[in-house]
Amino acid sequence: MNYVTVVGHPLVQHKLTLLRSKATAVTAFRVILREIATLLCYEVTRDLPLVPLEIETPLVPMSSPVLGAEAPVIAPILRAGLGLVDGMLELIPNAAVAHIGLYRDPASLEAIEYYFKTPPDLAQRLVIVVDPMLASGNTAVAAIERLRAAGAVDIRFVCLLAAPEGMANLHRHHPGVRVWTAAIDERLDDHGYIVPGLGDAGDRMYGT
Ligand code: URA
Repeated sequence: MNYVTVVGHPLVQHKLTLLRSKATAVTAFRVILREIATLLCYEVTRDLPLVPLEIETPLVPMSSPVLGAEAPVIAPILRAGLGLVDGMLELIPNAAVAHIGLYRDPASLEAIEYYFKTPPDLAQRLVIVVDPMLASGNTAVAAIERLRAAGAVDIRFVCLLAAPEGMANLHRHHPGVRVWTAAIDERLDDHGYIVPGLGDAGDRMYGT
């Protein structure tokens, strides 16, 4: 599974435990989710290309590296993916934010699209798809299909928790898409929830 990076950083693991706990109420959940998103963003952007820029320090001229490519696009899958956006924008404030409106049909677990908006130049930019939970993987697969149809080429996926079923599904459909997650959990239950998981991520962050 060399397409999956589990971010084992102690801060990430600590914050993930807080998110998992049902004792963590909505206000704290939002704050911690934002913090963990920043840490995951640091990892998913670890190999962004740099180019030299000629600058002058107060002492001497020098050539120093800056980010070379077009700013990435952060693409949250609505609604829970929105919880990861602000934390990522802390590190890449010039990123564009695409919105992918997909929900899981509760009976079939299939992804149904209701909204899709991206910048026009997807082909030139790294697209970071974000959703806290990679469960069955159906919404992730559908989101990436839509992004590809809209021109995206370089696509990465960031989540908090991944189920083995979801990772396999995503990899089967999109073998070139690498995944960053804070943990790989045991399995899905009969309702498509990740076990042990953290519950419904959207409900936990929006208090619904
Ligand atoms: N979506 C969630 O919010 N939680 C799960 O466990 C699975 C999908």
